[in-house]
Amino acid sequence: MITVKTVDNPIDAHLIKTKLESAGVLCQLFDENIVTHNPLLPVAVCSIKVNVAAKDYEHAATLVEEMDSAASYDEPDELVVCPNCDCTSIDNKFYSQNDIRSLLASLFSLATMSYPIYVSKRYRCKKCDTVFDLPQ
Ligand SMILES: [Zn+2]
Repeated sequence: MITVKTVDNPIDAHLIKTKLESAGVLCQLFDENIVTHNPLLPVAVCSIKVNVAAKDYEHAATLVEEMDSAASYDEPDELVVCPNCDCTSIDNKFYSQNDIRSLLASLFSLATMSYPIYVSKRYRCKKCDTVFDLPQ
């Protein structure tokens, strides 16, 4: 088995698994249960691994690349475009902790040993790594 993709949440893992299996590629998810039961462990176990047989790797990698490069849409079905390079391949599940509210929430979570109560959801261009918010 060869890892074709690693992801940090079980929803994305199952979306990829469904896409691969609908194309006839059998796959297995590794470390899914560990990450599902303790969401703070993906760093320790290197996330959920989507593994395929060696003979299916090229086909699976192509399918995963198609999923990664698909265009993103925001809530009112507007195409999200990178303000830096006009690319439409956007990661819309990027959680940033680069603002003061996220920093304070992280410190509170650390002090109380609880889950983070606030992170800001932002967009990140997969091509140039620019992090941005949509204009209001
Ligand atoms: Zn960009």
